[in-house]
Amino acid sequence: MTGWNGPAVADTAITRQRVRVRGVVQGVGFRPHIARLARRLGLSGWVCNDSEGVLMEVQGARVSEFLAMIPREAPPLARIDELVAAPIVVSATETGFAIQPSRTGPAGTVIPADVAVCEECLRELFDSSDRRHLYPFLNCTHCGPRYTITHRVPYDRPHTSMSKFKMCAACKHEYMDPDDRRYHAEPVACPQCGPQMSMSAGEIVRRIRAGEIVAVKGLGGFHLACDARSEDAVSRLRARKNREQKPFAVMVRDIETVRTIAECDESAEQILLGAARPIVLLRKRGESLASDIAPQLAWIGVMLPYTPLHHLIFAEDPDAIWVMTSANPGDEPLAIGNEEAARRLAGIADAFAWHDRDIVVRADDSVIRWTGTTSIFVRRARGFVPGSIRLPRSSPPVLAVGAHLKNTVCVTRGNEAFLSQHIGDMDNPATYDFFRETVEHLLGILDVRPDIVAHDLHPDFLSTRFATELGIPAVPVQHHHAHIAHVCAEHGIESPVLGIALDGFGLGPRNESWGGELLKVEGSRYERLGHLAYLQMPGGDVASREPWRMAAAVLDRLGRADEIERRFDGFPEAGIVRRMMAGNVNASSTSSCGRLFDAACGLLGVLPKADYEGQAPMILESLVTRPEVMSGGWSIADGVLDLVALLENLINRDPIEGANLFHGTLIEALAEWAACAAEKSGIRTVALGGGCFVNSFLSDGLVRSLRQRNLCPLVARMSPPSDGGLSLGQAWIAMRAGD
Ligand code: ZN
Ligand code: ZN
Ligand code: FE
Repeated sequence: MTGWNGPAVADTAITRQRVRVRGVVQGVGFRPHIARLARRLGLSGWVCNDSEGVLMEVQGARVSEFLAMIPREAPPLARIDELVAAPIVVSATETGFAIQPSRTGPAGTVIPADVAVCEECLRELFDSSDRRHLYPFLNCTHCGPRYTITHRVPYDRPHTSMSKFKMCAACKHEYMDPDDRRYHAEPVACPQCGPQMSMSAGEIVRRIRAGEIVAVKGLGGFHLACDARSEDAVSRLRARKNREQKPFAVMVRDIETVRTIAECDESAEQILLGAARPIVLLRKRGESLASDIAPQLAWIGVMLPYTPLHHLIFAEDPDAIWVMTSANPGDEPLAIGNEEAARRLAGIADAFAWHDRDIVVRADDSVIRWTGTTSIFVRRARGFVPGSIRLPRSSPPVLAVGAHLKNTVCVTRGNEAFLSQHIGDMDNPATYDFFRETVEHLLGILDVRPDIVAHDLHPDFLSTRFATELGIPAVPVQHHHAHIAHVCAEHGIESPVLGIALDGFGLGPRNESWGGELLKVEGSRYERLGHLAYLQMPGGDVASREPWRMAAAVLDRLGRADEIERRFDGFPEAGIVRRMMAGNVNASSTSSCGRLFDAACGLLGVLPKADYEGQAPMILESLVTRPEVMSGGWSIADGVLDLVALLENLINRDPIEGANLFHGTLIEALAEWAACAAEKSGIRTVALGGGCFVNSFLSDGLVRSLRQRNLCPLVARMSPPSDGGLSLGQAWIAMRAGD
């Protein structure tokens, strides 16, 4: 296929080749692309989908030219990983070029991710002469639902939730016509034959304007929508959803409107406008939104319309700014079924806008942070799943089940890793059910039976129990080891690395509470070179929700325990906490970096009690204006990094000054820590993993600081650095078992 460039040079000889294409080549308009190309070049033959991708035979005088043009003119959503052609015997009788029916067999291909409605479809949507004028389910080969409507591979209409809709003659004609944009677009539909909404866009808009909360069925689940400028609607939504402070995302019509509420540079614009249409966390601007959309945070999650219905809504009300939050009452998984939504959202939604196209697979909106220099995944789901991540080697299939919070699972097939969509915190039965469904569905669409299952060291995690009861060889993986391995897997690094893993909690091999670790990772093994100095965690787990307790632990550590009750006089438990630590009762200790953030928050009086996981660090980060370094704020001895001097310095400080000092000093201390280890070990690559790296100052700052020391920092780019990417790290370690 190489070597052809320039105008057509007529080969004289007729040749025939059999061509195999692997990658994302099903459901993206690949076969029609091949058929059109072949006809244009006067070739005969056939093409079909099969379990490995696309297979074809082509014959004629311009076969080599044809092969060169396949990748060059590939449809926008296609991704060619491999194209292999081999000459075969010429057929004497063949005429014309045909698209043959799919051949089934062991699946080796993947379903594409869901895609935002394309420009051409949008034009039709608002064209009064088009037969799909204002039809909320129009789509074509270049856009529309994919993963969320598909039961199994190959990706064909009977395997999707469109199977119950019988195509009308007009749709059938488009579906069968290789020159049509809807040729083999599996979800093709029109007002005559396709899905219907229960409520018009106009009616939804009218209700939202009247202050109602409307449950709107979307691509991967229901959203709860309300007017983001109405204090009353937003606070009612909070009260009904029992979500006191967690931030809500908003949807607006276009980039111009985004700029009225948030800072949005060109790169952020590209992410917002990408085919996946994620929620992007941008710095807030202006005062037009209700005050408690994202309380105390400097960012707001913004997304642009991605279904035809969204566009119809914003056509009715171009200036609208809507809260569009996942309809997941009680932090359970997103509602997807109509009856299920009616039941679970009763008492939350005033009205329901549903449709009769079933959502087969639940997928939340993806969330990406734009730091000004890089993007960081906060949540990876709709629009990205089931896209694979390429690994530097192949192995028998592995299933990795993640840990507990923000969980995902990962399945490997050959040299590809398939990370599931965000599942959530596994602390309720509904999320555990979703976890099991996800494992089953992912294994099903990949047609993989795992040889090995990898899981966290924690024996009490539901994921661990699930893994050990599967009856296949199970590989326990230390949590922070997995965080570092995750980064290595993404970057294809097989050589030894240093790793800094910073998060809230992970179990060490002797049941310790870890979370600020300096590791050396080599093959499937790791060595703990150092850790953050331990702090007491008075009350154990409770301390992770009550930053004031971590602040009390710092006071105790400084010999200032007598200040605890005075400083935290709002907490009746303050006296007990002091005595507990004095007597060393019920106070486990931790090397967690998350708890260090909590302690800083508690000492600065910013947030004594947290409402949701990660709230304290997010608020502290929101206060940062410009990180500053406090010299002498830390010490390093025997691998232990101690920041107690910094923490002491925060007492009685202004919160903004404190946040600046905390971030700047932490970054410099971590960089020096890594540099010491690099010096001793001779390893210059430093992988940064764990939920703390969702913090943009920490992430960008540490990368910069390590580079200044001539080290080579690596961060996760294709999946979340948090526990949302952990399963990939577990899988990678299991793949390398024995190394
Ligand atoms: Zn389209
Ligand atoms: Zn139709
Ligand atoms: Fe973690």
